[in-house]
Amino acid sequence: MNADTLRRYLEFYQDLGVKEVYRKGSGIRDQGSGVEEPASRTPAAQAANPEPPTPNPQPQESLLNILEDIGDCTRCRLHSGRNKIVFGVGNERSPLVFVGEGPGADEDAQGLPFVGRAGQLLTQMIEGTAKKEGIPLERKDVYICNVVKCRPPDNRTPEPDEMEICGQFLYRQLMSIRPKAICVLGGTAARALTGHKEGVTKMRGKWFQWRDIPVMVTYHPSFLLRAYNQDAKREAWEDLKKVLHFVYD
Ligand code: URA
Repeated sequence: MNADTLRRYLEFYQDLGVKEVYRKGSGIRDQGSGVEEPASRTPAAQAANPEPPTPNPQPQESLLNILEDIGDCTRCRLHSGRNKIVFGVGNERSPLVFVGEGPGADEDAQGLPFVGRAGQLLTQMIEGTAKKEGIPLERKDVYICNVVKCRPPDNRTPEPDEMEICGQFLYRQLMSIRPKAICVLGGTAARALTGHKEGVTKMRGKWFQWRDIPVMVTYHPSFLLRAYNQDAKREAWEDLKKVLHFVYD
């Protein structure tokens, strides 16, 4: 791994709230190297080492490489309750990626993201909004994945350490695809990718940034399935319109 890739990993972990990094095999906290607080975050270092221009000039690894690297993962406790790893689905060259929180029961059974009721609603939202806006787009044309790849027990929110461990794979997926925009579904994914701590109602409909990629935050489809959320549904449709026009106009 070269220095630039390492720096990007460290920034991603910092966004996830990780304050300390250990070097494998050293047995001690890596204080001496300054890895704990990436130097690239200081203004002086940023000036000396600006963000690389888009598109990323580095050779990109394939999603297949990443999937192979995940293997039969036991890196965190979520592996013990899972049936299938839910890596992601769709067009790996898509200019638009949707990121959810983590698989539910249907996804865990099928090994595919967003295939249950929330997934059906997501499909309707993508295809219905695109059609209304005159954009020829089907669900299979975008890429869909989650922050964590294994189902949390009882669909609980993933723990910070689970998101940290699995986040490296999301990071690599996004770096591999390098979409024009990311649409995050729900507060957990929004906080993980943007580093902002507000609730989803404050963040939705606004643009944030992940590395140099614009990120639109909207409600999670599971939240929208609750009958009293008609207003939220309308807002989510507005958010989706914004992101679709940004990507496909
Ligand atoms: N909820 C998510 O966040 N992801 C899925 O894949 C399904 C439901």
